[in-house]
Parts: sequence; C-alpha cells; structure tokens
Amino acid sequence: GVPSKRAEPKELSVAERVEALWERVKKRDPHQPEFLQAVEEVLTTMGAVFEKRPELVTVMERLCEPERQLIFRVPWLDDEGNVHVNRGYRVQFNSALGPYKGGLRFHPSVTLSVIKFLGFEQIFKNSLTTLPLGGGKGGSDFDPKGKSDNEIMRFCQSFMTELFRHIGANTDVPAGDIGVGGREVGYMFGQYKRLANNFSGILTGKGFNWGGSNIRPEATGYGVVYFAREILQDAGDSLEGKRVAVSGSGNVAQFTVEKLLDLGAVPVSMSDSSGCVIEEDGFTREGLAAVMEIKNVRRSRIKAYLEASSTAKFVEGERPWKHVTVDIAMPAATQNELDLEDAKALVACGCKLVVEAANMPSTPEAIHYLHENDVQFGPAKAANAGGVAVSGLEMSQNSLRLQWSREEVDERLRGIMKNIFASSKAAMDEYGTHLQGGANIAGFLKVADSMLAQGAV
Ligand code: GLU
Repeated sequence: GVPSKRAEPKELSVAERVEALWERVKKRDPHQPEFLQAVEEVLTTMGAVFEKRPELVTVMERLCEPERQLIFRVPWLDDEGNVHVNRGYRVQFNSALGPYKGGLRFHPSVTLSVIKFLGFEQIFKNSLTTLPLGGGKGGSDFDPKGKSDNEIMRFCQSFMTELFRHIGANTDVPAGDIGVGGREVGYMFGQYKRLANNFSGILTGKGFNWGGSNIRPEATGYGVVYFAREILQDAGDSLEGKRVAVSGSGNVAQFTVEKLLDLGAVPVSMSDSSGCVIEEDGFTREGLAAVMEIKNVRRSRIKAYLEASSTAKFVEGERPWKHVTVDIAMPAATQNELDLEDAKALVACGCKLVVEAANMPSTPEAIHYLHENDVQFGPAKAANAGGVAVSGLEMSQNSLRLQWSREEVDERLRGIMKNIFASSKAAMDEYGTHLQGGANIAGFLKVADSMLAQGAV
C-alpha cells in the first residue's frame, strides 16, 4: 500500500496554548488552591499580551514554576521545656530582576500553597516597584498567638538556624509579613549574625539603630493610601471627607488608617479574627493609638478597644463589609477576606472604590462583581507594593552604608507609588483592560523580557 505520510502537527492557537499551560500547572499541583487562584487571576488578564507576543506563553509557564522551594523542620522549646515541631518554608520563586525578595509569614494557615501564591504575586509586585528585586516568600505554620517573648525568640532562632544557609544580601533577602514584625526580624537577624559572623543586609524591616530604614514600618499602609489618592486624582477626585472601611488591625491596617487621617479621610472600621469595631464618625488619632497599644504592646484582641471608646460598636466574628456605609473599602487583613456577598453589600451601600491592602484579599467572584458594577478596583500587586519598595530602599541604604531621612524615604515612596499607578494605567490603556490587568501586564513584561534576555535558565 501507499506509505502513510506523517501527520502535520496541528498549530495550536494562542488561546489553546494558554489553556494547555493552565491544565499542566493545575495537574502538577492539584492540591494548592491559593497558588492556583493567584495563577488563574494573572492568566485571565493576559489574553491581549499573548496575542501580541505569543512567545511569552512559554515564558509564563517557566515563571509559574519556582526556581527553588525549601521545606525544613523547625523544632523549638516552650517555656515548660516541651519540644514542638513546626514546618518552615522558603520559596525562591524568580530571580530575573534581582535577589529573591519577599516576606516571611508565621500563621497556622501557612502551607506550601499559601507561600507559593504569595511568592508568585511578589514577582509582579516587585517588578512594578522599578527596583532590582526578584520574588520570593517564606514562613511557617507556627502560631505566635499566646506565645511568650522567649518562646518567640527561640522559634525565630531555630527558624534562622536552617534558613541562614539559603539567604544573603545578594541571594535572597526576607522581611516581615503576617506574624513577623520588628521583634521577629531582630531575633532572626541576631541568630544570622551569630551563625554567619557577617553583619550584612540579609533581612529588611530591621530596627533603625542597626541598619533599618526610616518609614519601613509605615510603608505598606502609607503606600496603599498614596495609591488610592492616585486613582482618585486621575478621576478628578480626592480622599478628603471620604468614608473608608478598613479591615485588619496589624501593621498594614494601622498605617493605612494613620495616612487616611493625615489626608482628611474618615476611616470607620478595623478588625481582627475575633470581629470588627465600627466608629461611625471615624477613628480619631487617640483611637488609633489605643488600637496600636492593644495590638503591638498588649498583643490582645481588638474587642479591648471598647474600653477606650464610648462610641464604638463591636460585631463579633464579622468582617466590616456588611456593617458599614462607605465610599471606599481597603481590605488589609488576609487572603479571600472579601467575597461575592461582601462585594454586593459594598455596591449596595454606594462604595465606589476598593483598594487591596492585603495580598489577594478579594475572591475572583468579588472582583468580577465589582468590575461589573463600575466600582474602581486597585489590585494588591500595585496597591500594597510600598512595603517591599521601602525594603528595596533599605537594601540600597545598606549597600551605601548610610541612612536617609524620613522625608527622603517618604518622598521616594510617593514617587514609586505614582509611578506604579502610571505604568499600570499605561498598560491598561495599551491593552484595553482594567487597572488589575494593567498592573499584571506591566509587572509581567519586565520580568518576561529579562528572562528571555538571560536565556532558558
Ligand atoms: N510582606 C510584604 C509584601 O507582601 C513585604 C515584603 C518585603 O518587604 O520584602 O510585599
């Protein structure tokens, strides 16, 4: 018979190649819901980019796989002398733009999936800052709640006893995130120095006396509000007199509320996992100071705020979204804290702008509903990049072996947030999408072109 000709391979369309990529990512890590949510969110905004530059589909697939993932045992002694074991993580996700950079999260909800979602987002966010920073993230399922200061110190020392061999000022520079603040960074820095006999900028968020940067504690919250101001200014509006719902009461929420007060807005809520407090006429500076004392000094529950205010209302076990009437919402607690029902409540009360202060605080259904109902949406990768941006400035100052004034760092932070808005908006206009898509595209293109330039590494 006639020898059969080899079948021509069918040309896949760009959309089919993206679909195949997504299927492979899902198949590789089927049990990582947070990571897959973060990847899917980016993929759904990239259509126009891939149509224009089909070669970037493969780069995206490379980008979805971390360069290196470390999982390690963290044994520690409690005050009674019992040994506990937790799991430590560091995911070194992408180093196209610079050393791996991103925080450490200590929280019982931490899994590899959570660390990978955070590390994935960090790549795009760090790219948007314009600073030379790769993307990474780490942490532990350790629960700091109710632990003594000595227990926290021993845990941090044990965590660093393994982590120290994997980090370095030009390799990987961790920082804080949920459950990791100045105290924890201090204990980890001390242990690093002891093990490595090397005083260098291997962590950011350090104390000012030993190499930290002015404004770093304030940076994420301040940056979120600067970014909101850019969105409003672009529409000929301002923050003056705007009622704002804030969730959370940790580092990000505290300095979001502080900067809102500075700029004449009216922050009406704060929360923690036990519930939310509402101040109908807005938090005062004294009220914010009381929250800071409860959270940072007493390390207690936000309900204690009721002792400091006669006007506050406390809603047990609830987030603020269904209990406020506001112009703006700023989720500043944790992932997936604002769902479809919350989005409906916000739209119903007249809210016109949602700016994400936490990482991935809105569910995909919530984001879709907000867009459908003409609510402006400021995505986390752009809006909360001020924290890591000032971490980048801390690294610059460490390299220069000097420290800039508060004014100088704040000025640079404002410039960076302005720039992030401008580049996200430019990509949004060029590719005919929304600000969420624009931020993803602007962040991605810089990383993707750098990966191409550096070869298939
Ligand atoms: N954890 C912060 C973030 O989500 C800051 C990371 C850093 O400063 O390296 O961006």
